[in-house]
Amino acid sequence: MLFEIFDPKARPRPIGIDLGTTNSLVAFVREGRPVCVTDCNGKALLPSVVYYAEQGVVVGEPARQTASEHPRETIVSVKRFMGRDADDPETRRLGPYEFAKADEAPNRRVVHFKVHDQIVTPVEVSAEILRALRDLAKDELRTVGPAVITVPAYFDDAQRQATKDAGRLAGLEVLRLLNEPTAAALAYGLDKKQNGLFLVYDLGGGTFDVTVLSLEEGVFQVKSTGGDSALGGDDLDRALAHVMLAKAGVDDVATASPSLVRAALDEARKAKHALTDAPQATWALADAKGSVSREEFDALAKPIVDRTVTPVRRALRDAGVVAADLDGVILVGGATRTPIVRRTVKELLGKEPLADIDPDEVVALGAAVQADLLAGEQLANAGEDVLLLDVVPLSLGVETMGGIVDKIIPRNTTTPTGARASFTTYADNQTGFEIHVVQGERELAGDCRSLARFTLKGIPPMPAGMARLDVTFKVDADGLLHVHALETTTGKEQSVEVRPTYGLSEEEMEDMLLDALDHGEDDMHARLLAQARVEAERVLLATRKSLATGADMLEHGEHARIGAALEALDAALKKGDANAIRSRVDDLDRASTPFAARRMNDAIAKAIAGRAVGDIEHEVERAKGVDAHVAQHEKNREGKKD
Ligand code: ADP
Ligand code: MG
Repeated sequence: MLFEIFDPKARPRPIGIDLGTTNSLVAFVREGRPVCVTDCNGKALLPSVVYYAEQGVVVGEPARQTASEHPRETIVSVKRFMGRDADDPETRRLGPYEFAKADEAPNRRVVHFKVHDQIVTPVEVSAEILRALRDLAKDELRTVGPAVITVPAYFDDAQRQATKDAGRLAGLEVLRLLNEPTAAALAYGLDKKQNGLFLVYDLGGGTFDVTVLSLEEGVFQVKSTGGDSALGGDDLDRALAHVMLAKAGVDDVATASPSLVRAALDEARKAKHALTDAPQATWALADAKGSVSREEFDALAKPIVDRTVTPVRRALRDAGVVAADLDGVILVGGATRTPIVRRTVKELLGKEPLADIDPDEVVALGAAVQADLLAGEQLANAGEDVLLLDVVPLSLGVETMGGIVDKIIPRNTTTPTGARASFTTYADNQTGFEIHVVQGERELAGDCRSLARFTLKGIPPMPAGMARLDVTFKVDADGLLHVHALETTTGKEQSVEVRPTYGLSEEEMEDMLLDALDHGEDDMHARLLAQARVEAERVLLATRKSLATGADMLEHGEHARIGAALEALDAALKKGDANAIRSRVDDLDRASTPFAARRMNDAIAKAIAGRAVGDIEHEVERAKGVDAHVAQHEKNREGKKD
């Protein structure tokens, strides 16, 4: 018999968490391999369901089982509410919940559920799930270290901030947030390939997400995202339940008792799972029983599964690629176990998708790999460091005179990133600046989404144009925006960490983009040229700077290649054609990406080496932000009059 030896000085293990809409999991790296933590029944999946009982809070399977008895006290799919505004009409449609009224909630900006007489926020509900996962991990590991938590690639600032808050509330040190598709790619070790283009197809319980990821010299980037926030395995359950209810004599589901409907859905799900491995499944509901064949199920499932086709095509188009360009397709989400889903994906994309890692677990496993890596413990069989770069989904900027938006960080900029713009006073004796932070693609602030507003006061009266306000934007590795404003002549400063007031759905995000496209043309040409110039100058400067300071990391011939691209860009700048400038910027980008990646890997390795875990997040951000990505462009514009 073996006895486990408990070492009280054992280092806390970093963990990876997949905080899912339907199910959540926690994983860690054991002997160089990521594994999911299982509960006492051997189950790794924790249903993301929280029941606020009179006596206390119940999380997971028991809460799921009694959900239909306490619909208002049981919060399901809380992820859909994360970072949402209280007045968001969308949230009202998401469940039978009671919401707190204006005078009842401490912070009316976010959704508040009212359960019994208690007011709870989505962050608190999510924290219950995270706490349950942490406890699960604790049973196994005894001491739990810092965590990497995954989020959908399209999550905006508010949703990411809410997720991070939930982690902290659950007593976790959140090392960073990681995009779910990127986590899946990591679990497959695709980072070791150096280069590639991948599509991640994630069909969960109630959401479908598709993401195109590129890997360039070991660096992942999200190229495009898409999906359908109301499509998933639950739809298959419903279709099958209808058939069962009809056989049980219920023609109109609306008139059936909620408990019968619940029982039918449970039975349908069981049959669906059975049909994944067997050609036939039996079911029993009230007095009725029957069997369903895979063919019958497929006929029901086909129209549902076919709804994933358009978002996949759109994601490919948005990424500017075709299916044949893909080096791999990854299946994620429990519903992708269904054979008809696999078949559909294979036919659509013309290749056998990767599915040998359990699609339920793959995201949590990838998160564990990343947590382990960030916490400095190298995977025994891992090659180089992996770097994860994601992008800012919508441009971030400030409102300037005349309500015009000055975009400080353009859409699709790789994060972490930072940029600074300078402004001055417009009127004589102006003693304050109003800083209005906005997100969106439109030219006028009124058409963009307002993220934050603050004032910098107490500037002594000066003639117009004398005061100088430096506004610095930093988007950290988790995609959160930090804004800092400094009036340089007086040293007055102020900062905000933006917790945007509205959560954006994917559709809204798409609408904002389309909107910008619709209105774009007219006055855009001059603006485009100006923007291309600014961007070009920024890139020129940054590249020259890194060539000067990191020359030892250049590979043979690289200096000449980058130098040629620099010159070509310089020439294009003189000609003044926006398109030419942009494509030369792209060329330069391509020429210098491997070099930039090496510099970042190096910076990260240095930041991590020999550090206590708590220092790492900060260090990594700093290393990446300062060394490779802070672009400081100075602009002399007139600040908005206070
Ligand atoms: P989410 O990411 O939304 O939390 P999951 O990835 O856990 O969701 O997927 C949950 C869905 O996967 C449910 O609809 C569940 O019924 C389905 N599912 C799980 N196992 C199987 C299986 N063996 N066959 C078919 N569907 C499955
Ligand atoms: Mg999921």
